[in-house]
Amino acid sequence: MSKKLSSEEIQKIENDYSCRVIAVSKTRDENTILDVYKNGIKDFGENKVQELEPKYESLPKDIKWHFIGHLQRNKVKYIAPFVYLIHSVDSARLLREINKQALKNDRIIDCLLQIHIAREETKFGLDENELFAILNEDLKVLNGVRIKGLMGMATNTEDHNKVRTEFRALKNLFDKCKDLENEKVEMEVLSMGMSQDYNLALEEGSNMIRIGTAIFGPRNDGNE
Ligand SMILES: *Cc1c(COP(=O)(O)O)cnc(C)c1O
Repeated sequence: MSKKLSSEEIQKIENDYSCRVIAVSKTRDENTILDVYKNGIKDFGENKVQELEPKYESLPKDIKWHFIGHLQRNKVKYIAPFVYLIHSVDSARLLREINKQALKNDRIIDCLLQIHIAREETKFGLDENELFAILNEDLKVLNGVRIKGLMGMATNTEDHNKVRTEFRALKNLFDKCKDLENEKVEMEVLSMGMSQDYNLALEEGSNMIRIGTAIFGPRNDGNE
C-alpha cells in the first residue's frame, strides 16, 4: 500500500463505482488536509472528537466531516452542531444521545448503523437483532436522527475470501433493510472498504469507502 491515490484516480473510482470516497484525515495536520482539500476532496473522516473539533474550527466550512470512530455518549454534544454523517452508531443508547443533541441544535443528524461483521476482530458494532430492534422500535420516538445506511469493517487479513464473505454479508443485510424504509430510514449509504480492501468492497457493492493511508501515506504513530 505504498502508492498514493491521486485526485484523478479518486475521481475515477467515484465515477466507475458511483461511490463516494471519504479521505480519512485522522492524525494528519491541518496543512496536510488543506493540500488534499485543494485538489477537490470535500469529505473527510475523523475518529476522535478532540481531534475533529479544532480541525472543524480552523479548516474551510464547506468540508463535510464524517465521524467514523467509536463515539462516547458524553462527547456527542461537541460534534452535534456540525457533523455531516456519523458512521459508527453502535447502540440504541448512543443513537438516543445523538437525537437529543440534534434536537438541541435544531437539526437532524444523519447516521449509519455500524454492523459487527468481523466476528473475531472489532469490539464494536450491532448484530442483526440489535439492528432490526433499532429500525423497528427505538427509532420511532427519535425525531432528530435519520438512518442513511450501514457501515462495517472487515477482518484485517490477507485472506480475500474471508473479507469478501464479510462484505457480502453486510451488503445482503443492507438490501434486507430496504424493506423497512420510511421517513426516518433511507437506506442509501453502504460504507465499507478501507485502503487495503476497498477494491473488494466496491466489487461487493459498497458505495462509500473510507481511505486514509492510500491518500495520505502511512500513519507512523500506530494510531488505528
Ligand atoms: C483509520 C480508519 C479508516 C482508514 O484506514 P486506512 O487503512 O488508513 O485506509 C477507515 N475506517 C475507520 C473506521 C478507521 O478508523
